[in-house]
Amino acid sequence: MTSLAGSVSKNVEGFLDFINKSPTAFHCVDNVKTTLTSAGFKELRDNEQWNIAPLGKYFVIKDDSCVGAFAVGGKYKNGNGFALTAAHTDSPHLRVKPVSKREESNYLQVNVECYGGGIWHTWLDRDLTLAGRVFFRKPNGKISRHFVHVKRPILRIPTIAIHLKRDTNEKLELNKQDHLQAVLALKIEEELNKSTNEKDTTSDGNKKLNDESKKHHSQLLQLLASECNCQADDIINFDLMLADTQPSCVGGLNNEFIYSGRLDNQMSSYCAIQGLVNSLDTLTDETFIRGVLLYDNEETGSESAQGAMSEFTQHTLRRMTRDDYERSISNSFLISADMAHGVHPNYSSLHDRDHRPSLLNGGVVVKTNCCNRYATTAFTATLLKEIARLSNVPLQEFSMRNDMPCGTTVGPILSARLGMSTVDVGAPQLSMHSIREMTSTQALEHYLEFFNGFYNNFKQVYESIEL
Ligand SMILES: [Zn+2]
Repeated sequence: MTSLAGSVSKNVEGFLDFINKSPTAFHCVDNVKTTLTSAGFKELRDNEQWNIAPLGKYFVIKDDSCVGAFAVGGKYKNGNGFALTAAHTDSPHLRVKPVSKREESNYLQVNVECYGGGIWHTWLDRDLTLAGRVFFRKPNGKISRHFVHVKRPILRIPTIAIHLKRDTNEKLELNKQDHLQAVLALKIEEELNKSTNEKDTTSDGNKKLNDESKKHHSQLLQLLASECNCQADDIINFDLMLADTQPSCVGGLNNEFIYSGRLDNQMSSYCAIQGLVNSLDTLTDETFIRGVLLYDNEETGSESAQGAMSEFTQHTLRRMTRDDYERSISNSFLISADMAHGVHPNYSSLHDRDHRPSLLNGGVVVKTNCCNRYATTAFTATLLKEIARLSNVPLQEFSMRNDMPCGTTVGPILSARLGMSTVDVGAPQLSMHSIREMTSTQALEHYLEFFNGFYNNFKQVYESIEL
């Protein structure tokens, strides 16, 4: 009976389309680029002169996986501030190692490493594929890069049968080195497909050095080559992630849930960008520079050129403001957006009873921690609450139990390094860091409304401060 199910809104459809096209941080940023370009944003290059002007819309990409997007208010003057959102594009995943070729018991396997703190057992018995970016040499000798997303299941990490491990329901033990290696093919297939004319030169006629073909199964390289429209011999290097092939979808009796990978934190990335784009109508009267910063490597500590600890933020914000940087920073406000833990009905005791973001449809979560694992202060939470009130979005408070370690995100890093007023928020979800997470359609709607409201109403809130 389909009549019971609620209808799926355009907003939810838009998000599902985005996340299904974004199996990796690279794809996420590339899809953000498409959204921004079609909304009239201009790409700025690091090595070119930037001529920032009121009503201008710009974005800059760092190493394919980090992006800053800005819309300058029509009434912006030098020294005015930024209204910013920061989120992250990466999610825990299994990544192909530099030497991936493995053989065991007549299986061809792909050697992987663990990126971030994933719930790795959720990766077992899933129909997996590969996605990422491949660098290769073109026949003219130039180096190119292509984003790949293989659209069929080619990898699997099988569980062990219960007959061979009787206590598997009592204790599921995974050794990250031994038990997560993915099966690619049966060995006999590989022999049949082995290339018969192995040359010792690349297609630009030079001698092969550091031959990648010895490090990876030739079938794997052939597959990548066909995705990139190049020769397998010309592949120089790649970042390849394992990814689930099952598309994200709505579920629940009334279609009230979203089942998906990478909600943490592509949902924040998506909603922040939508908020920026949807608020362009009110840009003419804006005195701030509205911006979104999306970083890579949050799940591994943020310390990289494309992570939140990078000087990228300072360089970018300085160039947006020319010589009035310090004044602008003190006039600015940053929303650090990362997903939040909704209360799990089977584990509700893991939450502080009085600070449960108990409802997946209860509103945007404000995260507070007195030991600075979150950047929220009474001042920044006050601004946030005013923004939420004007935007008609409900809020929920989150604080960790005192006997458990508190998570963190990009907010404290950016607020410390930039000296910028920052608040940490998130949308509630379950199963964070599983290969397939879960949130509600209402949480997505609240989140979209919230970011749109932030960009539209921040000027008014800021101007009402009288301290
Ligand atoms: Zn996150």
